[in-house]
Amino acid sequence: MNNVSHKQRKRRNKNKTPTTESSTTESSTNAKIPVSVNPPVEIEDSTTEVIDLEKFQEKIIEDFQWTLARNMTNALIDKFVELCLTENMIIFGGYVRDYLAKRIFNHNVSDIDVFSYDISGAIFIKLLEKNGFYVNEGHSDESYEILNEKPFDVTKFSVGLMNDELFLGRKIAIRVDFVMSKTWGQPPFKSLDFESNAWIWDRHGIRLSQDTGTELDTLSHRDIKDREAQIITDIRNRTTTYHPIHNDKSMDEINIRRRKIRVERLLKMMCRGWIIKNNPVPIELFSYHKGDQCSICQDIFHSYCLKSSCCEMKYHYSCYIDYAKSELDERIYIRCPQRCSDYCV
Ligand SMILES: [Zn+2]
Ligand SMILES: [Zn+2]
Repeated sequence: MNNVSHKQRKRRNKNKTPTTESSTTESSTNAKIPVSVNPPVEIEDSTTEVIDLEKFQEKIIEDFQWTLARNMTNALIDKFVELCLTENMIIFGGYVRDYLAKRIFNHNVSDIDVFSYDISGAIFIKLLEKNGFYVNEGHSDESYEILNEKPFDVTKFSVGLMNDELFLGRKIAIRVDFVMSKTWGQPPFKSLDFESNAWIWDRHGIRLSQDTGTELDTLSHRDIKDREAQIITDIRNRTTTYHPIHNDKSMDEINIRRRKIRVERLLKMMCRGWIIKNNPVPIELFSYHKGDQCSICQDIFHSYCLKSSCCEMKYHYSCYIDYAKSELDERIYIRCPQRCSDYCV
């Protein structure tokens, strides 16, 4: 019913449009006639396609919901960050990087890393609840535990605001990796991988960490300022410098796991479009030709693939990652699957 009457009205409107327009234009010079009396529900392009009013309204509501969700996510993050800084914690990792790059933080993909010298995860959760947040515990990411044997108390949870469901009919939550250590200095705890991850944010502001385990820790005050400017410019150009694990060639379990995480991060960064200076992995992202096969599993490709720069062989992302990790189980360097090159991460 509704649809039919809409269509009829539109058709009628369409026929009327030229006369309505001309009369409005003519009379508008003499008197102020509100344009909204006859709203321009159709926008005519070269194909004279008619906009469906219901779809148009749905789109407006959808846009509004999206904007509302975005604003509520921002409010949630701002409130969370403020509480962390007030409680003398340090925010580090991807969130600070995206903030400096003025990039929208995608809470569906990334989490916020928080470090505390003195407050345990359990106490922090109580504090959040007291301040109007709700907390859900339980997602896993093993990247901190591996930095040393037992230095950290790591708590993973997602956090939202108590009553956002009232407005949106769903909850918005950000994922948090909360790290506590009484004995370790600052993130990234002497194991910086990408320079874009060298930032910390505490109550004094955002600056480069002095505990990266790289030459950044020994720079003079003036050099630090220059370097900060350089790293921010790099981040905005989606570029970063990689710092390999130079000093520790041991093959203990922790080091093997560290290297596995690094090779995975390197490939993930490349696939997200980052340009990595000092990239040790001789692999590039490649759009395959139809029928191309993976040199590891012999299956064809369905999306992008990886291509060795040494021998131009092509691989699935997951096949290559699994292969590189299996290499690290046996030695500290990774060989090209065709044995024509090798590299350390
Ligand atoms: Zn494959
Ligand atoms: Zn090769």
